[in-house]
Amino acid sequence: MNVLIVHAHPEPRSLNGSLKDHAVAHLQRQGHAVQVSDLYAMGFNPLISAADNTQGQPGVRFRVSEDSRQAFADGTQSADIAREQDKLRWADALILQFPLWWFGLPAILKGWVERVYAYGFAYGVGEHSDQHWGDRYGEGSMSGKRAMLMVTTGGWASHYEPRGINGPMEAILFPIQHGILFYPGFEVLPPFVLHRTSRVDEAAFAAACTALEQRLDGLWSDAPIPYRRQNGGDYLIPQLTLRPDLAPGEEGLAVHLQRD
Ligand code: FAD
Repeated sequence: MNVLIVHAHPEPRSLNGSLKDHAVAHLQRQGHAVQVSDLYAMGFNPLISAADNTQGQPGVRFRVSEDSRQAFADGTQSADIAREQDKLRWADALILQFPLWWFGLPAILKGWVERVYAYGFAYGVGEHSDQHWGDRYGEGSMSGKRAMLMVTTGGWASHYEPRGINGPMEAILFPIQHGILFYPGFEVLPPFVLHRTSRVDEAAFAAACTALEQRLDGLWSDAPIPYRRQNGGDYLIPQLTLRPDLAPGEEGLAVHLQRD
């Protein structure tokens, strides 16, 4: 299988750098092909701009979505964007690996998503009408591929429990897992999260590597998070609200999980 790891840490000798190296070595030992987009090492430009369309006309107003659509459709995207899209097409599984910074993605990785997820590639895919609101949330260009987050946090696990002060980890990661990964069609596996990083010593690092290996071995077999598919019949169209007979009276992010 082909695995793309998008790695966002500025220091190769960091914990994240070490975990990335371990993941690459383990996947390769298991016979998988691995590509790494090491965003800091590549000097990846995270700033979306008019220059992302190489045929853009100077002085013409920059329309972010429309210019992205045009450049993708015409094959005139900036080469760094097209290269990352090719890696995504190649991959059977995508791993986004990062330290949790201010409750979200490091800016360079957010910028990677903003630029690489072009209109027509990751959004604006499929029929858009009052009957069908695009191929997204479980359908789209990334259908048939799997994805997983590899995240480290300074906070303790308990800080991220349902009553923890930081808020539940599923809620913090929802915009990434549901919004960035499930949206263009990935099946999203539960995240690999390593907490309380300041306490990681040799023994804890070894234990984390063993746990990570198990998760990597389950990339093709572990059950994905059971998000409801937009076009699977659970949502009213075009309102895109959950049918009132499903999870009646409930609100919040958990209503988007399918139950037996
Ligand atoms: P490092 O600092 O590189 O390492 C952590 C520990 O692991 C060190 O003790 C190091 O010695 C050890 N280690 C590293 N490599 C190895 C190895 N090969 N073998 C054995 N031990 C090793 N945390 C939150 O919980 N929520 C937040 O919102 C949040 N926001 C942040 C925002 C910013 C801007 C920053 C800088 C930090 C934030 N943090 C937050 C903390 C952050 O998540 C952690 O600092 C990060 O996850 C640690 O990862 P690292 O790769 O940088 O670790």
